[in-house]
This record gives sequence, structure tokens and C-alpha cells, in this order.
Amino acid sequence: MRKLIDQFGREVNYLRLSVTDRCNLSCFYCRSDPGSCGIEPVEGSLRAEDYLKIGQVAAELGVYRIRLTGGEPLLHPGLTEIVGGLASLRGVKDLSLTTNGILLEKMAAGLAKAGLNRVNISLDSLDESRFRQITNGGKLASTLEGIDRSLDVGLRPVKINMVLLKGINDHEIEKFVRLTLDRELDIRFIEYMPVGGQHSRWSKYFISLDKVLEIAETVGPLSIVEGDHGGGPARYVRLEGAAGKLGLISPLSRHFCDRCNRLRVTADGKIKPCLFSNEELDLRPYLDQPEQMKNVFLKALQQKPDPGRSATNSLERMKQFEGMRPMINIGG
Ligand code: SF4
Repeated sequence: MRKLIDQFGREVNYLRLSVTDRCNLSCFYCRSDPGSCGIEPVEGSLRAEDYLKIGQVAAELGVYRIRLTGGEPLLHPGLTEIVGGLASLRGVKDLSLTTNGILLEKMAAGLAKAGLNRVNISLDSLDESRFRQITNGGKLASTLEGIDRSLDVGLRPVKINMVLLKGINDHEIEKFVRLTLDRELDIRFIEYMPVGGQHSRWSKYFISLDKVLEIAETVGPLSIVEGDHGGGPARYVRLEGAAGKLGLISPLSRHFCDRCNRLRVTADGKIKPCLFSNEELDLRPYLDQPEQMKNVFLKALQQKPDPGRSATNSLERMKQFEGMRPMINIGG
């Protein structure tokens, strides 16, 4: 099996593939212009078959984990076809998706049947009005039904992503922690990242994940959960006797660049070596030339940044975020 190893010895085996910039929610920290909650197709978006061509090339190069992202991937009219195509690729062992869950209740069964293995669901509040405020109008019940349906149809693991925001949802940490006591859910807390030039409001919302551990310890004894957990950056702990576990994703206070295993492709066909840099290469001219597309992948691989240069304290790390693309145009 071929392996993609970058100049710093990191094995890259994970591709995040954004299939759309469109979204049916408008989370204030994701979109720099919350007003433009659009569902119109974005100029230059790839076709369903293009994602399969990119997936094929990535798999031949040694990628075996593919995550579908967005915007909101469930809005893509050809999503089930894309899932079916990627799941059938030789070498792809782990096919997952990140979603806001609003449409998941209806689509989970079909996606699981098409070959989807697991799902991450963004959920920043368990309070109906707070959820509506954060998402600019979203319905909490829809996402909760999507979580239940994902568990029912056997998608595993089901992971919940909560972006921790000071003064917005940090008072809900205990509620989220307690979700793991009797539900087989991985509740992950994610530090707020000022992607897309949001440096000015970073200090207003950033809160270190140490707060999560502090509160979790008041709920019960914690133990570290070892393992690679799907190749993601989260550190996991579990409350004594809990069905689920807690994950901590801290790109600022404890970066994980030394074990970065991913490349990203945006919905308009650009490959990005790193989430936080402006570097990107265009794959579109090579969609029908797989060998040339492989060369672009290898070029992106060699442009992955030196992990030794990633700052180890939050404020300095925040200043290293050069990427100007909003998160919705990258896919997280
Ligand atoms: S910041 Fe860049 S190098 Fe570091 S983990 Fe994220 S994508 Fe990888």
C-alpha cells in the first residue's frame, strides 16, 4: 500500500473533501457575513463525478480516510451518489461526513446504505433559543432527531462537535458532558478558531478547553481513552461508567501539527496543505488527467508547514492564522 509521507515524516492518509459552500444555517462564527445564508450554487463548484475522480487519485496515493464536508454537505443533490462512489473505491476504509444535522433524520438511512461509516454533527447548544441565536434561525429539534436517527441506523461512532464560545455556550459544558453518561456519543469540545480573518473577535469568544476538564471532574472521575479514534486530532477522556466519551480539540492551546495527517479539497477544487495558511493549488485543470492530478497532490504534500514553527501558546498561535478563506469555503 502506497503511503503519502511529507518532508517532516508525517503520514497523510486523510482527505477532507468539501462538496459545497452552501449551507442552510448561518452560524455567526463561521460566516463573516451572517446575512448571506444562501443556498444558490457557488461559481466554479465541482460536479459529483469530479469528487469521485479526486477520491480515486487520493486513494491510489495512499489516502484511506475520506471525510465529506461543506458548507452543509446534505444539501448536495448528488450526495448519496458521491458516498456510494467513494465507498466503492479500493483502499478507502473509512468514509465519514460532517453535518449540522438539520436534514440528517431524513437522509441517515440512505447514506448508511450507500456506504457511509460514521458522522460528526455540529451542535453548539442544547437550549432552543441559544441554538437559534448561534445559527441565525436553526431548529434544535431537527439536529437532535438527526443524532437519534444516526444511532438508529448504525452509523458509528456518532460524534458531536461543540465549538466552545465564551459568554455564549460555556455555561452549557456540564449539560454536554452529562450526555455521555448514558448515550453512546463522543462529545467533542473545539476551541474557537479565528479562521477567515476573524482575529479581531477571537479574544471575545476564545476560552481554553481546560475549563471543560475542570467541570467534567466535578461530574465524576475521568480516565484517558487511548487509541487513534479515526485519525482525528481529539484527545479523549471518559467519565467512570459512561457509555460515551469526551473529546478535546485544541488547535490553539495544544496544537497537533506534529501529527497532522490531512489534506483538504475545497468545493471549488483547490487543494490546501494546511487549514490555517493561504496556500492552495488548483486541481480543476487536471480532473481528467489523474497522473497530473497526483503531481498536484504531491506538491501540496510538500507544502505542508513545518510543525516546529507552530506556536505553543494560544495568542501566538492565533497570530499565525493567515488563511483568509472563511471556514464555510474550506470545509473545516
Ligand atoms: S494547522 Fe495546519 S499543519 Fe497544523 S494540524 Fe491544522 S492543517 Fe495540520
